[in-house]
Amino acid sequence: MAETIGFIGLGIMGLPMAINLIGAGHRLVVHARRAESMAPLVQAGAKACDSPAAVAWQSTVIFTMVADTPDVEQVMLGERGVIDGIQAGSIAVDMSTISPSATRHVSARLSERGAEMLDAPVSGGDIGAINGTLSIMVGGNETAFERVLPLFEVLGRNIVHVGPSGAGQVCKACNQIVVAQTIAAVGEALLLAEASGVDGAKVRESLLGGFAGSRILEVHGQRMLDANYAPGFKASLHQKDMRIVQEAAQELGIALPGASQVAQYLNALVGQGFGELDSASVYRMQRQLNGRSD
Ligand code: NAP
Repeated sequence: MAETIGFIGLGIMGLPMAINLIGAGHRLVVHARRAESMAPLVQAGAKACDSPAAVAWQSTVIFTMVADTPDVEQVMLGERGVIDGIQAGSIAVDMSTISPSATRHVSARLSERGAEMLDAPVSGGDIGAINGTLSIMVGGNETAFERVLPLFEVLGRNIVHVGPSGAGQVCKACNQIVVAQTIAAVGEALLLAEASGVDGAKVRESLLGGFAGSRILEVHGQRMLDANYAPGFKASLHQKDMRIVQEAAQELGIALPGASQVAQYLNALVGQGFGELDSASVYRMQRQLNGRSD
């Protein structure tokens, strides 16, 4: 049976992901709060719906790619939400980055309707979304995972079924710990180079060939050197992800001091009105702390 696919949340990530699904020949029904967000998809052949419930009613696999935990709760469980339209046997696939415990709650509510939910957050940024090369970390039922796998393969390359409901979000929180602290580490390295009168571009080039080499050094390091903070991954979203990490640490009673430290930079960045900048702009705060201009 050909599946009709629903897609809700058409921002920096959701729009190119939905376009890739259409490009792979799938029938799409979509919903966004603003009509202009849906326009490029309608032009590409998708059907626009006026609520998440309408999307869910007309599709057997429903993707969501919205911002934060309350947004997923609203889209899934709120007024005219997915839960009001979803049919038994359908699968909701949340690809947003949200709280693992909230994910388990939403999943349990959807299962009361005979539906499955997978949490499938991603890494790879807007470039990965456009190129269909995202890393996808999946939590939930194995059979549901197998059914959605061909669709995940349109969106990404490194697709891992991590464990039961919430495990994908736990994996993403782990990812964000590494990304955030690596951004801060790259920023500190470039600061030391500058303060020593050494060319940061040469330091980056040299480090890329050794043990310190990473995608963060490559991509974010270049953004820092160019002071180019066009998003990308917004600082406000990274602040949200570090909040998820800290909440999880609190729930579990574990100490993650490194993650807390980077979270403070992100708090200051967002507090100063720079939440829409790429999260590489943590470097701006590090520079500010050291009395250096942008
Ligand atoms: P974004 O550009 O801000 O897009 C979010 C979209 O969700 C917007 O179109 C927004 O609609 C919609 N939305 C938010 N709340 C909603 C609600 N309550 N009901 C309906 N629609 C709602 O963000 P993004 O960069 O695509 O990120 C989406 C998710 O992917 C986030 O959880 C983020 O952490 C994660 N992520 C992002 C990246 C990245 O590099 N950008 C990488 C990995 C993971 P409006 O336009 O109407 O506000």
